[in-house]
Amino acid sequence: MKPIVCTGAMDAETLYLIGALADAEPVGLGPWKCVRGMLDGFPTVIVRTNQGMANAAAATALAIERFAPCAVLNQGTSGGHAPDLHTGDLVIGETVVNLGAWRTPDRPRGAGIDPVCGEPLGLEIANPDPGDGPKVTAFRADAALMRAAAAIPWDRGRVVRGVIGSGDWWNNELDRIAWLHGRFGTMAEEMEAAASAQICQAYGMPFLTVRILSNTAVHGEPFDERTGEQCQKFARALLRNYRMQ
Ligand code: SAH
Repeated sequence: MKPIVCTGAMDAETLYLIGALADAEPVGLGPWKCVRGMLDGFPTVIVRTNQGMANAAAATALAIERFAPCAVLNQGTSGGHAPDLHTGDLVIGETVVNLGAWRTPDRPRGAGIDPVCGEPLGLEIANPDPGDGPKVTAFRADAALMRAAAAIPWDRGRVVRGVIGSGDWWNNELDRIAWLHGRFGTMAEEMEAAASAQICQAYGMPFLTVRILSNTAVHGEPFDERTGEQCQKFARALLRNYRMQ
């Protein structure tokens, strides 16, 4: 049976799942921490990608090459954008967008800069063919992983499905957050999912991210890393559902 790769950026987002593995065995995956074992009876690989887009992309590609998994589930913490979400609420990432991929309009020297003008820039899906690969601005989650997520009974916070925005960003300007929420419909932001989703699309690999709000500037709620464990518990239930489908 093929394993599932489950990724998280930090210890706070991976240690619970690693602790839940039976027959846990560390595996060399370049500089990334990686442990494989059986999670609730199914082969599973937990990868701690470290933070940020480049780390997420590289660790995801290496894990796909090394383990030939049936799916990649990314999970972890995030900062809230939607006004009706609070710390502890969960977002199932139906769509993931890269908040740093942007094309600005032509402007002459001296005309100034405007951080909210322009359009999303398509991100190239890697392939060996001549010429540019297809360009994608929004990565859609795998339907079977979405179903597995939607079927989880959860009473520890709200669970919504929607857009998650990724980038090497930590946004605290409320006007910028409101603009991102209005422009992209982002429910939350984080720093890895779109990079992993882009790589998974290149491999034709089913992908989903689920993110818990660990903070939300919208409500002045500071980062609470304990939410990382709650998200891993949700991810564990999701993986179980996915395997049972
Ligand atoms: N103790 C760490 C916390 C890092 S939080 C520090 O201060 O450096 C950054 C990580 O959490 C990233 O992996 C990102 O995916 C996620 N994250 C949580 N809230 C975020 C936010 N508001 N904006 C961007 N990333 C966030």
